[in-house]
Amino acid sequence: MSSPSTKPLPAPTFGIITDIQYADIDDSYNFQGTRQRYYRNSLNLLKNAVNYWRDCQPKVDFVLQLGDIIDGKNKKDDASRTALMAVMAPLASLRKSVYHVIGNHECYNFSQDFLLKSALNSAARVNCKGVAGKAFYTFLASPALRIVALDCYDLSVIGTPENTPEHDEAKRILERNPNADKNQPHGMGTDRRFVEFNGGLTSGQLEWLEQVLLEADSNRENVIVIGHIPIFPEACVDYSSLCWNYEDILRVIDRHSCVSAYMAGHDHDGASAADSEGILHITFPAVLETEPGSNAFGTATMYCDRIEIVGQGRVQNYSIKLRYPTLIL
Ligand SMILES: [Zn+2]
Repeated sequence: MSSPSTKPLPAPTFGIITDIQYADIDDSYNFQGTRQRYYRNSLNLLKNAVNYWRDCQPKVDFVLQLGDIIDGKNKKDDASRTALMAVMAPLASLRKSVYHVIGNHECYNFSQDFLLKSALNSAARVNCKGVAGKAFYTFLASPALRIVALDCYDLSVIGTPENTPEHDEAKRILERNPNADKNQPHGMGTDRRFVEFNGGLTSGQLEWLEQVLLEADSNRENVIVIGHIPIFPEACVDYSSLCWNYEDILRVIDRHSCVSAYMAGHDHDGASAADSEGILHITFPAVLETEPGSNAFGTATMYCDRIEIVGQGRVQNYSIKLRYPTLIL
């Protein structure tokens, strides 16, 4: 019989999907006119992903949904709640935990107050730890794997009510953008990320992240950090998809040996790159811009020394080295 220190641990398998952006509207092109968006079919692709996760071996234990679950265009049609019910139904049919993060399209559709009370606020789950009134959280997926979910709109103009310190600070940050339309990054070079559809982490959330990673290091937990917005330039096709204070976030996660990967969406093409500390940054491509018949989701399985992600459709396969190898059942 194994001693407590060498007892094998359960190895989780989990699904990853992002930028479904469902809306019951006709297809159209993105703002640059370069990519087709399949608003209705994104729901079919979500259902196909759920069917895969229901039947795959090993079965998934949970799913990470990395934000923009419905499109902002629902708002003007007064269809936000109907669209949300449409995407939550197939996810609920899986009968597994689904962990969400806040994207810009959640902020277009719903107030912060609504989001915090809704099923999209995974911080409120009993197994998640966070800070009261905030949407960031962490949970142990297994005794050797911790997920840390960031709220990249904690500091933003679209995700915070007016006349709050977070909103006022976000407005000051956006003064760097000289364009009349603050969603436009024209002429901004490497500062293209200072647009209204992005956001960042408050100093309070950065301090919380530091504390969570300190404890994870001392407990020898492997950590995957997730958030809607990429935080590493090489893992973005366009720098306008970068988190406002990505350098501050990188500085925190790079100084903790527990972190193996950062997973995001938001940049619809998807990209991946390892940073100077060997943390793998994976930006998953958008379901919304995936052709009918294909798909864009991943299924991750933990092994004793790594996590293998099997990609479907536009998502590649990845192997993530764990910082603290462990014994797995
Ligand atoms: Zn987004």
